[in-house]
Amino acid sequence: MQSKILNPRDIEFILYEMLDVESLTAWPRFAEHGRETFDAALAAAEKIATDKFAPHNRKADLNEPTFDGKRVSMIPEVAEALREFNSAGFLSSTQDFDDDGMQLPWTVAQTCLAWFNAANVSTAAYPFLSIANANLIRAFGSDDQKARYLPGLSSGRFCGTMCLSETQAGSSLSDIRCTAVKQADGSYRLRGSKMWISAGDHELSENIVHLVLARIEGAPAGVKGISLFIVPKFRVGEDGATGERNEVALAGLNHKMGFRGTTNCVLNFGEGEGAWGELIGQPNRGLACMFHMMNEARIGVGLGAAVLGYTGYLHALAYARERPQGRHPGAKDPAQAQIPIIEHADVRRMLLAQKAAAEGALALCLICARLVDEQHNPADDASADARLLLEVLTPIAKAWPSEFCLEANSLAIQVHGGYGYTREFPVEQFYRDNRLNPIHEGTNGIQGIDLLGRKVGMLDGAAIQMLAREIHATIRQATACNSDELQSCGKELLESLDRVMEVTRDLLCVIERDESELALANSSAYLNLVGHTVIAWVWLRQGLVAVKHLGPDTPDDRDFYQGKLQACAYFFRWELPKTKHWFDLLHNLDATTLEMQDAWF
Ligand SMILES: Cc1cc2nc3c(=O)[nH]c(=O)nc-3n(C[C@H](O)[C@H](O)[C@H](O)COP(=O)(O)OP(=O)(O)OC[C@H]3O[C@@H](n4cnc5c(N)ncnc54)[C@H](O)[C@@H]3O)c2cc1C
Repeated sequence: MQSKILNPRDIEFILYEMLDVESLTAWPRFAEHGRETFDAALAAAEKIATDKFAPHNRKADLNEPTFDGKRVSMIPEVAEALREFNSAGFLSSTQDFDDDGMQLPWTVAQTCLAWFNAANVSTAAYPFLSIANANLIRAFGSDDQKARYLPGLSSGRFCGTMCLSETQAGSSLSDIRCTAVKQADGSYRLRGSKMWISAGDHELSENIVHLVLARIEGAPAGVKGISLFIVPKFRVGEDGATGERNEVALAGLNHKMGFRGTTNCVLNFGEGEGAWGELIGQPNRGLACMFHMMNEARIGVGLGAAVLGYTGYLHALAYARERPQGRHPGAKDPAQAQIPIIEHADVRRMLLAQKAAAEGALALCLICARLVDEQHNPADDASADARLLLEVLTPIAKAWPSEFCLEANSLAIQVHGGYGYTREFPVEQFYRDNRLNPIHEGTNGIQGIDLLGRKVGMLDGAAIQMLAREIHATIRQATACNSDELQSCGKELLESLDRVMEVTRDLLCVIERDESELALANSSAYLNLVGHTVIAWVWLRQGLVAVKHLGPDTPDDRDFYQGKLQACAYFFRWELPKTKHWFDLLHNLDATTLEMQDAWF
């Protein structure tokens, strides 16, 4: 039976036929790997996701964690699933062999995590945060900090969190108020409250390592005065052993629309003499440390959104094949048997829209993951290029899947009709879970501002020009290929890319004229314009691979490759034309939203 979590054949297509991840084994770091070890890791992820994560996805949603004033309780299946995850080594899948890691490429490791996210996103959130937390300590911690915290985080004995947000400081981190006072022994005492902290308290591990943004007494105002601290729930001794309780108090749990199995907390730091904390990295450089990890975290969020769209699509597909309803137009005889709803063109439209969004978004996120690996390419030029390309692709990889795969989840409900609107089927939960993704890790509104206000203008437009060069290379391949359909897709992509470059130049001039408010007013339309162009590029790349493989020698895979080509055609005919509308708004510097007055609502 075909998995309804993800499609392993598609993963094989993206990793090996499109991204050629096997070629990474030519680099010294991955020389001990090969297709067999990559496949073994992917198969283990699929098995644990299927056997241990998926079965309690609904139960965790219906039984969210509770707090009795002392302890947080949750269903036991979460701890059991995490034990399997940890003992299979997924907490340290990209770490060095010498540190007991699997030393996998990031692309393969992310694909493994995709299985867990698609199977049960709220259970997967705990290790997702621990991995991000450990990566930050690995990048910026002192040797002593690494020795005390990393073994616990890499084995699952400790869990990790990211404590940035406060009630008055969500999108605007410059308004953080949490304070830190230096002590004679060099440690700090922290005071303040953090809002929305995922995995902020639970009993899944013997300790929780919080990474907390706070201001050192006397620090400059704004983002230049924010530092980063390690504040463990229990103090950690020289030998890594868990010691006395720190002043980190759970003030309450938030009750959420989705992601219900993940605790989400208001945490109070320092209700007495102050929570003990230690500085990580340089004073006042806390946000820079966080942003160093932000690209990878944002790609991770995009990937999570893509695979929630993906699993919703596979559930809708299975349902549409089984659900009999109505007859073909023209067949009015009620004595005839009803047909499965997949026979109706409008249902196929909804399935194609989901397939185009989910498979396109997954491929984009894995292209970005491949670029993260490319930063370790022994060739200097390749790694610098990859870094630049990632700068401009990251806001798109975060925002596009979280907007359009959420829409795919809505269509999965629609395919189920009334049943999709009930809790009898999981598609409504996928929608609720995915609804978080446009909000956290920088709202999509903030991603649009980041893309237009920062990324495309950086280094005189070097990043967007690099993206344009990559897209041009794919267009050249399409022009030379033997498919009329793909040749015409290439022409349309070129027109769309020209529109992107033209409007980017215009908007950067407006920003230079000191009219950023006008230029940025429609940054969401800009994000959609570039996002749809990028996804069209991703589909053209997939189409080119499919055409190459679609021959008499691949009879078993004909349907698979034909499906890729049809989804590519769908995206170019139904979705890409929408970019003309966004271009017009941007080109005309439309000021409708800017001119609207509060009193007129
Ligand atoms: C379930 C959940 C889990 C979370 N987990 C964590 C976590 O583990 N750690 C953590 O630190 N945080 C976490 N967050 C917080 C999350 O990152 C914030 O909710 C997010 O950054 C938005 O902040 P806010 O909620 O204060 O909304 P606001 O910043 O108030 O935004 C409200 C709206 O205004 C828009 N807006 C705000 N400023 C601007 C601007 N300058 N220009 C244009 N539009 C703007 C936003 O796009 C948004 O649409 C989590 C949140 C949720 C809901």
